[in-house]
Amino acid sequence: MVTPPGENGIAAEVRAALLHALEREVHNCTRCSLGNGRTQSVPGEGPLNALVMFVGEGPGFEEDRQGRPFVGRSGRLLTESLKKTGIERTDVYITNVVKCRPPDNRDPLPAEVAACAAFLDQQITLVNPRIIVTLGRISMQRWFPNSAITKIHGQVRNIGRGRVAMPMFHPAAALRNPQWLADFERDMTTLPPLMERARRANQAAARGEALAAGTPHPGDADFE
Ligand code: SF4
Repeated sequence: MVTPPGENGIAAEVRAALLHALEREVHNCTRCSLGNGRTQSVPGEGPLNALVMFVGEGPGFEEDRQGRPFVGRSGRLLTESLKKTGIERTDVYITNVVKCRPPDNRDPLPAEVAACAAFLDQQITLVNPRIIVTLGRISMQRWFPNSAITKIHGQVRNIGRGRVAMPMFHPAAALRNPQWLADFERDMTTLPPLMERARRANQAAARGEALAAGTPHPGDADFE
């Protein structure tokens, strides 16, 4: 059996406690050199049962200062674009592939992404989102290595375990390029109907329908 996201077999209070423990671990982490230069680490934020998890690249200046993800200009674009499609920021979980700010906002190095990967793995296990939205090239590579974001942004793909992933441009890139901004806002409109299908899939799972490994979800083949 594939375990239904949102009902991952771990009691909600245990998941909440484990997520808090993970955040404490991230705050004290020195697994890679990014831990040396941070003001504070930025584990992520959002509801425990979020249907959607956004995964960006790494904290920037404001995020490092405030300890929260996507709170600078990029964060404002993300929040406003979500709102335009009827989604509140507080309804989604937001994190990054690395939890500490790379110096001068450079891309995280592969070794840093690898060092931090276990934290993201645990967040995905504990929050158990149906939909993962990657923001930018670095987080896209985790699920779609060797793909070009200009080619696959906005495409929804099944990644197994009842989840789909959709790559989007990073909001910082969208702010630099009007075409990418238009693509970013258009891709965001994919989310509300996708979330509705995810909700139906969760309801079906709660009724005990389907979710046998390899069996299509009733009416929601994306969420096999
Ligand atoms: Fe630890 Fe991740 Fe920060 Fe590196 S980026 S120090 S692995 S929390």
